[in-house]
Formats: sequence, C-alpha cells, structure tokens
Amino acid sequence: MAEVTVVGGGVGGMAAALRLRAAGHDVVLFERNPVLGGKLAAQHVDGFTFDTGPSLLTLPEVFDDLLACAGTSLAEVVDPVRLDPICRYRWPDGSGFDHRADLEAATGEVERLSPGQGRAFAAYLDHGRRVWEVSRRTFFAGAMESPLDLVRRMRGPSDLWAVDPLRTLHARARSHFADPRLVQWAGRYATYSGSSPYAAPASLACIPWIEQSSGAWYVGGGLARLAEALAEVLAGAGVEVRAGVEVEAVRADATSVAGVRLAGGEVVDADVVVANVDATHLYVDLLPDRRSLRRVLRAPVSSSGFALLAAVEGRTEGLAHHNIAFSADPAGEFDAIFDRGEAPTDPTVYVCASVVTDAGQAPEGCENWFVLVNVPPTSAVDWEARAEPYRDHLLEVLARRGWDLAARLRSVEMVTPLDIAHRYRSWQGAIYGTSSNGRQAAFLRPANRGPRRGLYLVGGSSHPGGGLPLVAMSGAIVAAMVEADQKRP
Ligand SMILES: Cc1cc2nc3c(=O)[nH]c(=O)nc-3n(C[C@H](O)[C@H](O)[C@H](O)COP(=O)(O)OP(=O)(O)OC[C@H]3O[C@@H](n4cnc5c(N)ncnc54)[C@H](O)[C@@H]3O)c2cc1C
Repeated sequence: MAEVTVVGGGVGGMAAALRLRAAGHDVVLFERNPVLGGKLAAQHVDGFTFDTGPSLLTLPEVFDDLLACAGTSLAEVVDPVRLDPICRYRWPDGSGFDHRADLEAATGEVERLSPGQGRAFAAYLDHGRRVWEVSRRTFFAGAMESPLDLVRRMRGPSDLWAVDPLRTLHARARSHFADPRLVQWAGRYATYSGSSPYAAPASLACIPWIEQSSGAWYVGGGLARLAEALAEVLAGAGVEVRAGVEVEAVRADATSVAGVRLAGGEVVDADVVVANVDATHLYVDLLPDRRSLRRVLRAPVSSSGFALLAAVEGRTEGLAHHNIAFSADPAGEFDAIFDRGEAPTDPTVYVCASVVTDAGQAPEGCENWFVLVNVPPTSAVDWEARAEPYRDHLLEVLARRGWDLAARLRSVEMVTPLDIAHRYRSWQGAIYGTSSNGRQAAFLRPANRGPRRGLYLVGGSSHPGGGLPLVAMSGAIVAAMVEADQKRP
C-alpha cells in the first residue's frame, strides 16, 4: 500500500483522499485554510448565513457514489432538499418563467412565456438528455490524456454527432428557439463552467437536462454543510487531516515524486502526491515545471465572480430560492467579460436567498441575499479600486430590476475575484479553473496525471473541470489511476 499525500482540502482533494483511503492506502491531507472545503464555504454575519461559493448542488448521485466508499450516503450525512422551482427567471421587460422541477410543468411555464416554444423547450431538454447519456460514458468516464481517449470510449460516429462538437452552445440554442429570451436562457448554462455561450461547445446543453432529471438541490443548513460532512467522513475513515498547514513544495527528482515540504520546513515523504491545488499554483510555486506550465497557460481561464452578501430586512414578494435577472444585451455582456476584460455594466444577476427554503439562514423576517455576477479574471480589472464602485453599481442594477434594497439593507459585504484568488490560491480568481471556451478547451485542460511518476492532479483546474459533481468525479478518476499505476511493475 502506498503513502499518499493530498495537497488541498477542496471537494476534489477530499474525494480523492476518501477513495484512496478506502482502497487501503495511508492518506494524509494538507489544507492551508483552517477548515476543509475550499470554495465550498460559508460566511456568517450577525445571524445571517451566506454560502460564499456553490449554492446549487447537481448530480447528488455522484456524492452517493463517493460516500458509499465509507459505507454511507448523501442523505445520511446531510439533509438534501430538491428545489421546485429550480430557478425563477426574469427579463428587463418584466416577463419571466419558473423552471419547474417537473418537466411537464416546466414546459407549460415556457409555453405561457412564449406561445409555441414549449415544444422547443422539451425538444431542447431531450437533446440534452442524449448529450448527457453519451458524455457520461465517454468524456466523464475516465482520464483524458489525449483526444484519442475520448474517441476510444465512443461507440461510433453517432456518439460524436450527438455531442455536437463543432457548434457553440449559442448556435445550438438558436437552432431550437425562435424566442431570443430562451436562447439567452439556454446560453446561461455556459457560465456553469465559467464560459461564454458564444465560445463554449454545444455539449453544455446537457446541463439543463441534468438539473431537470436529477434535480437542483440545496443542503439544509447551507451548501457548506456538505464540506463539513465530508470532512467528518474523512476523519472517520482514517484520513489524517492537517488543516491550517500550507504546502510549500512538492519534492521530486527528474522522474518521480518523493513527498512534500511544508511551510516552516517540515518534510513529509510520500509515494503518491495528489495535488488538489490550482494547476498554475502547482507548476509555478510547488513544482516549477515550465513545460507543464506552458500547457496550462494555453487553456482559457474561466471567468471569476463578484458577489455581494446582503443582509436584508423584511421579505421580498416573488423571491424564489434561486433567481436570475437577465441582462438586456447578452452578446454585449459576454463580450465585456471574455473579450474586453471588463466587469459588465449591464450584468445578468443571480440571487440566491436560501432563507426561502431554510428559515434558519437569516434572522426572523429577514433575507440572506447572495448576489453573484460573472466578471473577468483578476488580471483584467483593478479590483482594489473597482470593488466598492461596482458594489454600488450592482445595488443600482438590482433597484432598476425591481429589487430596491436601499432602505432594507442591514449590511452588505463583498467577495471579489481577489478574495477568491487569495483564499484558495485560485489562478486569477477563476471560479472553475479553465473555461470551456473554444473547441480545444476540453483537451487543453491539465491532465490528471502529472509530469512525474506518482504525481496526480484533482479538482476544478484539471479534467473533467469545475463544479461540485465534476471535481468529485475527478477524485474517482485519480483514485482509479493511482490504483492502476500502483499495480504496474
Ligand atoms: C462564487 C462561486 C460560486 C460557485 N457556484 C457553484 C455552484 O452553485 N455549484 C457548483 O457545483 N459549483 C459552484 N462553484 C464551483 C465549485 O465551488 C468548485 O468547482 C469546486 O468547489 C472546486 O473544488 P476543488 O476541489 O477543485 O478546489 P478548491 O475548492 O479550490 O480547493 C482547493 C484547496 O486547496 C487549498 N490549497 C491551495 N494551495 C494550497 C497549498 N499550497 N497548501 C495547502 N492547501 C492549498 C485551498 O485552500 C483550497 O482549500 C462555485 C464557485 C464559486 C467561487
């Protein structure tokens, strides 16, 4: 059995650690922050709880599969709640619809919004079903060290055409919907991988189907409860967790890893090092490697996020758990984020008010507004100077869209791209590591096997990408890879 060191206690690191421990290895995990979870975190402000990272859990079965390694399940360690509606959408002209959890009800809502488009909506979801059915047994089923890995897992040309590799998500949506509002709705799912619908592949059309079929989930007490629960399961399974400890270097010779060196100088030996840190941090700071770094930097970086944590007095009529207020000009918005490198002046605004589902998230009669907009990575904007003016601008945008919070704000805090970069050592404050922008993006994403024997990469900046279920899947891919490599002579 191998001595395994995991660097980073994000969900990807925890998933890999748990699986490797279940396979019988000795596993020690180092996390620089005092608690595990990485971006899956919460902030508490005077009785209000805000999830500062993920607020939506999809594909809960991925976590059931992970937790089965420790003889438990998601519902045994947290309180998962399936949301209906999945999300409440509104446009600047006052129109909107509820994406209901039930397919027929959702289709009816779309038909009410735009007569004749209900059928197009159902067809679009059905197309997403086929994309997902193929992607899960090809793209998501294992490592991606070359495009050939993908081709080998395909059953034939029909699989390739099903994932629609040559079109953008926007082009796909336009071919389904006559109503531009629904094209904008379909395009918004590109942001689930920090991407633009005008550049990301049409394969992302599987995401609304995933939400429709296996649900959009909340976790009682807040999403960050999942991080706490995973940390408890890890400890129970015998993973040695050392939180509040920064890894300063991965020790290696030209061919193999030997372990890590901690800040302060302590040296830890290991046969296997699993890096859950951002790949750029790994190849710049922990194991400088120009060739690997060049490759990582060729991959397009994902967008970042600018969030307000608004403690709001009173209750807002018509507020759902998840709400999206769309911009008037989606092309201009994505152009600002990905081409001009500017925080959009007319952004699509996401509001999560978990108090709608879970009264304990805010004091009696109050609301916890987590307001998030997509913005470029840190290199594009001087957030030291821009953060406060942008906060005020966002509050004005909310007021223009019918949510004037001015007289009701008890407090408002910010989470800027710089915070995301500093807290988790995320390259340029990227939410999801690398984006899916461009036809090559999936192949440019850093591979799970590193450039030395015994080094592996897990989490959002490596295959298969960011988002809670995907980083948990990368834990499974890496654990299987370690097992296979350990058996080799
Ligand atoms: C604002 C925001 C909203 C999001 N919304 C959603 C959502 O609704 N649904 C969803 O599924 N996903 C969402 N995501 C994405 C999701 O949070 C991430 O994809 C996922 O949590 C990343 O997990 P990870 O394991 O890759 O890495 P991380 O969470 O980044 O963890 C990496 C860990 O490594 C640690 N570390 C770094 N360097 C060192 C070092 N040298 N030594 C020791 N430790 C180190 C960091 O402190 C961190 O804890 C969101 C993210 C953000 C920021």
